[in-house]
Amino acid sequence: MSEENIPYEQTELYKIRHTAAHVLAEAVLVHYPDAKLGFGPPVEDGFYYDFDLGQEENGKAVAFTPEKLAEIEKTMKKLLKKNAPLQNRTMGIAEAKELFADQPFKQYQIDSLAEGKLDEDGNTTQEAASEVSIYQHREFADLCRGPHVPFTKKVRHNAVKLLRSGGAYWLGNENNQQLQRIYGTAFENKEELAEFLRLLEEAKMRDHRKLGRELELFHISQLVGSGLILWLPKGATLRDILERFMRDAQIKSGYLPVITPNIGNLELYKTSGHYPYYKDSQFPPIEVDDELYMLKPMNCPHHCEVYKSKARSYRDLPLRLAEFGTVYRYEKSGELNGLTRVRGFTQDDAHLFTTPDQLEQEFIGVMELIQHVFTTMGMTDVRARLGTHELDNDKYIGDPAIWEKGIDAIKGACDRVGLPYTVEAGEAAFYGPKLDFIVRDVLKREWQLGTIQVDFNLPERFDLEYVGEDGEKHRPVMIHRAPFGSMERFTGILIEHFNGAFPLWLSPVQMVVIPIADRHVAYGQKVADELREAGFRVELDAGSERMNKKIRNAQLQKTPYMLVIGDSEQEAGAVAVRTRNNENRGAMSVADFKAHAQAMVDSFAQEL
Ligand SMILES: [Zn+2]
Ligand SMILES: [Zn+2]
Repeated sequence: MSEENIPYEQTELYKIRHTAAHVLAEAVLVHYPDAKLGFGPPVEDGFYYDFDLGQEENGKAVAFTPEKLAEIEKTMKKLLKKNAPLQNRTMGIAEAKELFADQPFKQYQIDSLAEGKLDEDGNTTQEAASEVSIYQHREFADLCRGPHVPFTKKVRHNAVKLLRSGGAYWLGNENNQQLQRIYGTAFENKEELAEFLRLLEEAKMRDHRKLGRELELFHISQLVGSGLILWLPKGATLRDILERFMRDAQIKSGYLPVITPNIGNLELYKTSGHYPYYKDSQFPPIEVDDELYMLKPMNCPHHCEVYKSKARSYRDLPLRLAEFGTVYRYEKSGELNGLTRVRGFTQDDAHLFTTPDQLEQEFIGVMELIQHVFTTMGMTDVRARLGTHELDNDKYIGDPAIWEKGIDAIKGACDRVGLPYTVEAGEAAFYGPKLDFIVRDVLKREWQLGTIQVDFNLPERFDLEYVGEDGEKHRPVMIHRAPFGSMERFTGILIEHFNGAFPLWLSPVQMVVIPIADRHVAYGQKVADELREAGFRVELDAGSERMNKKIRNAQLQKTPYMLVIGDSEQEAGAVAVRTRNNENRGAMSVADFKAHAQAMVDSFAQEL
């Protein structure tokens, strides 16, 4: 999108979408003259508007059908072509209530504005208004602060699209009446709209829930529970490869493994402060033998107790404790989503205990590890966001001088690694500054991955100490970091990033041996055994289907290589190599193929 540095609310695009929302409401009133209007703001990728269309005879709320949505879109386009100026005026509360006399939701809005509870977009506000702002074009008037384009024609009729409709609760509260929301989008021109719709379609094709099913990676069973992932053999293989990749990288960086249990005494979380402060996002405590235990929501408290298992001196630091730790958090059932929002997940977690002087160097080490992960995955569009404290806010705990030192250490680390970053004051946790990595994928969507968090609080709460060179006791600083974040969410993102066609080193099944006829099966088995022996993940398709069907099946599973075997391959001790991209590489000796595939794996190659 253009206008990169201007806030979205001030861009031409925002005005276009805002105006499109008004014209949508105008069009809905053409088809449903008695419709009651809720809120209709621009949003990140377009706009929406909420309506109450009344009830059917059986008491069910009238909803928009796809056919009706198409008709409304047509009407919208007609109205846009007709053109009309948007006029802004203010009026007193009483006059406004008169103007919207038959619109109960607007009445509520006007009262909320007068009481200083909600603004015109439905966001909470503190300011009580004595006047309200109205935008009007033709007969259609709406409570609105703008901004808008000056004429409806500025919204091009061929750059507007209604996307879908669905239920939405008034004020987002499920105890309130359900309204019918229409989502739409608008762009500056039809080319930009076409590109947006293409990416939307592509995102649907790549949806990790759909691919996860088709490629047999994971399953969610209601009998097991919502948000609890069953990793199927192929998904578990993929996860195992990722874990091994991370373990190897961590060994090279001097991390030490620890393993801690999935529950902990409630006293542990009272010490850490995770209970009761994060109570709402945790499963309730379990009573055992008159004591309370909790499903582990975080690994850090356990790791602090590992630190305390013996007296530490400065010679022990930095101490880097790593664990693939499974944690449980309570997420509302409506917010659960495939692998990306779950109730149980495994973090590739580690906690680094350092002296204040070691902080910058350790931070650099962590950043390099995270960048190594992204580079290996082919994620090259990466930026960082540094969350700092606000100077005049007393919610932040700890010595201001140590905060400064922490922030300087992170800035110094970014500069030395050459990573661009933005600073966002007030985005730090109350216990220390943090650095988030923002990765943009091929569909131009941004993901927050690989947070590094500096923590001055837990060492305090757990009374962690080390004996310094001076013989005195000192407080270590703690770094929390998880390059993947969670194995579940990261795998979900990877599935969409690669569209299920993983590079060879990550593919759960790397190659399928395909004998053409029964007489080639024995040799096929021998080839498969030899490749498996060499460490590759191989399947043999000895079924009775025809060769082309077998190749097609392997391509649908996005298996990198198909090794076809007929008479001539069998005689020559060779395989005919095809790829999932339908490339025919011709015959190759088994030894040559093995060497080629090994080189691709060893270099983490994206291509085949
Ligand atoms: Zn408006
Ligand atoms: Zn932690």
